[in-house]
Formats: sequence, C-alpha cells, structure tokens
Amino acid sequence: MPASSNRGAEIYLDGVTKRYPTSLALDDITLHVRAGEFLTLLGPSGSGKTTLLNLIAGFIELTAGSIHLDGRRINDVPVHKRGLGIVFQHYALFPHLTVSDNIAFPLTRRKMPKEQIRELVNAELATAGLSGYGKRFPRELSGGQQQRVALARALVFKPEVLLLDEPLGALDKNLRERLQLEIRRIHREVGRTFVFVTHDQEEALTLSDRIAVFNEGRIEQVGTAQELYERPVSLFVAEFIGESTVVPETTGDMAWVIRPEKAKLLEPHSEVPGGCLTADVMIQQSVYLGSGWKHEIVLPDNTTGVVRSDRIPDSLHGVNIPAQLTWHPSEVTRVSAPKRT
Ligand code: ADP
Ligand code: MG
Repeated sequence: MPASSNRGAEIYLDGVTKRYPTSLALDDITLHVRAGEFLTLLGPSGSGKTTLLNLIAGFIELTAGSIHLDGRRINDVPVHKRGLGIVFQHYALFPHLTVSDNIAFPLTRRKMPKEQIRELVNAELATAGLSGYGKRFPRELSGGQQQRVALARALVFKPEVLLLDEPLGALDKNLRERLQLEIRRIHREVGRTFVFVTHDQEEALTLSDRIAVFNEGRIEQVGTAQELYERPVSLFVAEFIGESTVVPETTGDMAWVIRPEKAKLLEPHSEVPGGCLTADVMIQQSVYLGSGWKHEIVLPDNTTGVVRSDRIPDSLHGVNIPAQLTWHPSEVTRVSAPKRT
C-alpha cells in the first residue's frame, strides 16, 4: 500500500468482533477514525484496546466484521502491506543496531537509496529531539529516548496511520507528560492519523481529538473530551472520565451525573433557586485549594461525591456538616443506572 498523501488515511471498522475460545475480546465494534485525527482508545485493562489495535495492524485475524483503510477492505492484506506505523509499550528496538540504523530499518527493508535514507533519518532524529544521538546504541539511551527512537522509526516511512499501544506506559510521570506534549506536536506536524491506546484518562484528555471509551469489549461512547465530560451516556463513562456526584432518581432507573463545578451546596432548608433539584448530603470535609474549594460529600446511600466552589458560607465549614446539594437539570446529564440497594 503506497504511503503517499499528507493527510493520513481514514479507518472504518464495521462490526469488528474477536472471539477467543475462552473470551469475547471484542463484541461488534463499529468505529470511524477520521483522516488525520488523533483518536484514543481508552478503557480499563482487559477491555479490548490492544486486541483492536492488533486487528487494525493485521497481527491477528477477525472473527467477524471488516476493516477498511481509505475505503479499501484490508481484512486479508498482510501486516507488511498495510503500511502502518506501530509503536508498542516496550520499545522493541534492535539492540545491535545504532539509533540511526534502527530508524533507517523500515527504509533499508524497502531498499531505498542510501543518500535518501540518510536525509530522512536525520530529519526524523531532529523531529524526535535526538540530533547527535544517531551513533549510540539503544542501551546507551534512557527509556524516554528509546521510546523517541521507536516513534521516529515508526514515522520515518511516512505511514498514513500510526498505531500506538500504551507507548508511555513504562515511563515515569514527568517524562510521560513531556512525551505526551511531544507526541501531540509530532501529530500536528506530520498530519497523519494516530490511533493511541491508553488506560490513563488524563493522558487521553491531553492528547486526543476524540476518545473511544472501551468497556468489556464494547465501545460505550466516542466523542471529544468535552462531550464525554459534559454528556456521558452511561455511568461507566461518567465514572471513568472526571469526577462526579451520582444522585439516584427516586423513581425510575436513572441517575443524575453532576460534575463538581455544576453543583452548589446550600444550608439545609434554605431556599433553592427556581428549577433546581436538590438532595440531602453531608459535607465530610472542605479543602481549600487556592483556586477554590473542594468539598467531599456523602449521599444518603453512602456513595461519595465532589463539589467545587469559589466560596463557602461559614455555616457549612467543618467536618460532617449537613447540607443541600442543588443542581439545575439543564447543566447535568441523566444516565441509566442499576438500582442501588
Ligand atoms: P486491553 O488492551 O484493553 O488491556 P486486551 O485487548 O489485551 O485488553 O484483551 C481483551 C480481552 O481479550 C481480555 O479479556 C484478554 O484476556 C482477552 N485476550 C487477549 N488476547 C487473548 C488471547 N491470545 N487468548 C485468549 N484471550 C485473549
Ligand atoms: Mg493492552
């Protein structure tokens, strides 16, 4: 498959299913990854993210469904002909090759002229912030530098799609945050389609144009960070992304999902603004965070929640203070929720 355009390919997954003898790893996934977008597969361990990436890459075979790259069905196209760049959590560099030779590997395999290879490798070294490191061996690099090499090697042949499976998972927090910003910058510069796997919600929010939230082999919701935060379609999404207070409705199988900045705490029995709903809660404690207050609350069903506010009346200061939680229905979402007993 030629690596040509500058925009990245679109990927269309139609009813993708992967069944193992012991488990249903993916259950009828339909997903459209737009050309040039940064899409993150986010979900807990075991939810099927790696399986989906491996199916797109061609490492494993589908049980049912189909995968299309720019409109072309690639179910039966072998890995090396799909022309996708791939980066794993463990760098998988060749230990006996220098950094330059590692990055050059996909090009030497394609039998590109030496001079052209040198140019492309040098450009990739510069993009990865590794100029001057070309003659080193992987063992002479830190984990973060090794992962940059892996990224450079995956990008050097200008693949239309880059697949990344928890590429920062083995790095410490500071380094991970630095590399997140670099990956974002590289995505903007190369303009290809990135499909990125993580179980870390903050990482997903930092990087992505859109996020697909995985739960037990299914996609619960696909959307921008803001859509998922403000309009989660399920309790699973609401609880996986960001903080919230979940208040069961007295009737029906629904629950209100109230984000910390969409709720207010009032004194018990005080007047509630028109149209607002309320629930009795206990403020467990209030913590001053400089930018405002964070109140940890407990509901009558013993679940906990979080409210943020700029100010707090003196009467609500302290530990274990009864209060009214209030919110306006238009500012929160309702999701179906199993009855709590
Ligand atoms: P994630 O990457 O989200 O952590 P995976 O895609 O690796 O999850 O796994 C999804 C599910 O498929 C898990 O229940 C896992 O145990 C199962 N699974 C993955 N690979 C295999 C395999 N080769 N054989 C049997 N089950 C597998
Ligand atoms: Mg995985």
